[in-house]
Amino acid sequence: MPITVEKVKEFLQRATEVLKENREYLTELDSAIGDADHGINMDRGFQAIMSRFPTFEGKDAGTILKTAGMALVSTVGGAGGPLYGTAFMQAGMALQGKYEFTLEDLVKALEAALKGIMNLGKSKPGEKTMIDAIAPAIEALKKALANGADPVKALEETTRAAEEGMKATIPMIAQKGRASYLGERSIGHQDPGATSSYLLFRTMLEIAQKQGS
Ligand code: ADP
Ligand code: MG
Repeated sequence: MPITVEKVKEFLQRATEVLKENREYLTELDSAIGDADHGINMDRGFQAIMSRFPTFEGKDAGTILKTAGMALVSTVGGAGGPLYGTAFMQAGMALQGKYEFTLEDLVKALEAALKGIMNLGKSKPGEKTMIDAIAPAIEALKKALANGADPVKALEETTRAAEEGMKATIPMIAQKGRASYLGERSIGHQDPGATSSYLLFRTMLEIAQKQGS
């Protein structure tokens, strides 16, 4: 069953709620190794996406995601806004013109998003960032699809990998962003960006489960 543009909109709406619910949690994580604003940033950014919602009417998934990315870039400062903004814009470009798409297309969009983050952040896996949740999640999704998993099962495995990747940031030494200023003192803390990325994958799964597809 294809993923429709309606599901993309539902994802953005639900993600806005989830990030609002986790605003304090994300900010607390960022207060340990950053500047205590990640929850505030994500909440503000997704509220901005919601304010663009009326313009999504009749638009394809690519245009919607690009608009969402631009909303993030233009309303959220620091590292998180431009990185997530780029990710959504790249995903949007990969889905340009599509009103419905497959999980294979979703893999391509996620890969484009990850590449965008890595290029802008000059970062790679293992540096205690959002990449440590996103990269293993994409690998798990590809593996699940290659093994013929149904969509919900595939997204369950994706979400599990994102969660494991998020937890794997705890013992890492931060090498990018503000947390890197702490050096070894960043050990023992979960990365806020990896946590918000996990929450976004979990939201994707939730939407898929709800649709029963
Ligand atoms: P800021 O660090 O500017 O306050 P946020 O608090 O919103 O921005 O986001 C911090 C998160 O951004 C980190 O937890 C990390 O996951 C991610 N991040 C920071 N720098 C990079 C980078 N160079 N590459 C990838 N992700 C990064
Ligand atoms: Mg911060």
